[in-house]
Amino acid sequence: MKTDSDKNSPDSRNDENSNSLLEKKPLIIAGPCSAETPEQLFATASQLAMDNRVDYFRAGIWKPRTLPGTFEGVGAPGLEWMQQVKKQTGLKIITEVGSARHVEAAIKAGMDMLWVGARTVSNPFVVQEIADSLKGVDIPVWIKNPLSPDIDLWEGAITRFSRTGINKLGAIHRGFFWWAKSHMRNQPFWNIPLELQERLPGLPILSDPSHIAGKRSLVPLLARRALEKNLSGLMVEVHSEPDKAWSDASQQIAPGEFTRLLDDLLGEKQDPITGELLDELRAEVDNMDEMLVWALSVRMELAGKIAEVKKDACQQPLQSQRWEQIMQRVKLLAAKSGVRPMFIEKLFNSIHQESLSLQHTLINDKRKNLKKEHNFV
Ligand code: PEP
Ligand code: MN
Repeated sequence: MKTDSDKNSPDSRNDENSNSLLEKKPLIIAGPCSAETPEQLFATASQLAMDNRVDYFRAGIWKPRTLPGTFEGVGAPGLEWMQQVKKQTGLKIITEVGSARHVEAAIKAGMDMLWVGARTVSNPFVVQEIADSLKGVDIPVWIKNPLSPDIDLWEGAITRFSRTGINKLGAIHRGFFWWAKSHMRNQPFWNIPLELQERLPGLPILSDPSHIAGKRSLVPLLARRALEKNLSGLMVEVHSEPDKAWSDASQQIAPGEFTRLLDDLLGEKQDPITGELLDELRAEVDNMDEMLVWALSVRMELAGKIAEVKKDACQQPLQSQRWEQIMQRVKLLAAKSGVRPMFIEKLFNSIHQESLSLQHTLINDKRKNLKKEHNFV
């Protein structure tokens, strides 16, 4: 049995030389969120095929949707349409698999690559089943990040595939679900794919700006940021008539827009995007602020509960030893995270003052009420 300490053993790592997945950098995958009709698929693919920078045509055949009752993919007929697209346009094809049954059907249909979606990656049983079903099959597989910002779960899924002997492996960064409101559908948390790159050197990581953005106006900016961070390529949702798409309509872009995006990204000179970049960075900051305020409100609520316990145990609000421990701990955390300990000290002194004042009020109020109840005054 393997233990946690085996996590960094060589077989969990991707050797750069053994990973022949990346034919070119940046690798470009484009196509609709879902295969809907043969007409929609051909209209999109034939326009994309005119741009020789597009390496693969994507379309979801089976769609794992968050809500039931939404479009769940056309299933098997879509595989035939994809085969036709490949034949007629010369584009190589890729689709999402979420079960061993999908793998079998996709391979039979001549898929050139497969990807495993964010919802599937969150379930290690299913990931293992898919990996096992690919034993001995020489096909590249891309693993999207799981919905939650859990790098171990992502790395774990990739490792399940590499331990099954699949070495043409890559990852796709599609952002993470986060409860705080944001103008993006999913949070990029760029440090996570960058850390994955450090953990698994040589592993190609593509960016899926469409699912991070959730709206088409943000796709170019996020695509550019991904390439600036030296990710290995892009998977972008492109639809011949984005507004009419049966899934993810708001984030898909038209083929013409995609060509302009590639011109901008891969051309010699890029248009300045200072305004949009500022907006995007500020939105990330707003998100973090929301988390800070939430964390403070929960902390104060906990301080209130502590006040009740202290009151019952006849203890004082201020307990210096405990406070020194807290301060030491957070300063150490700050130093590790690259934040100045002096700043954290100031911030936490202020938080502590607020917490003490809350505890004093609660303890004194409770004492006053008790006295009143017992007619001590
Ligand atoms: C998709 O690529 O259309 C898709 C369903 O993506 P994700 O798994 O990232 O949500
Ligand atoms: Mn989609």
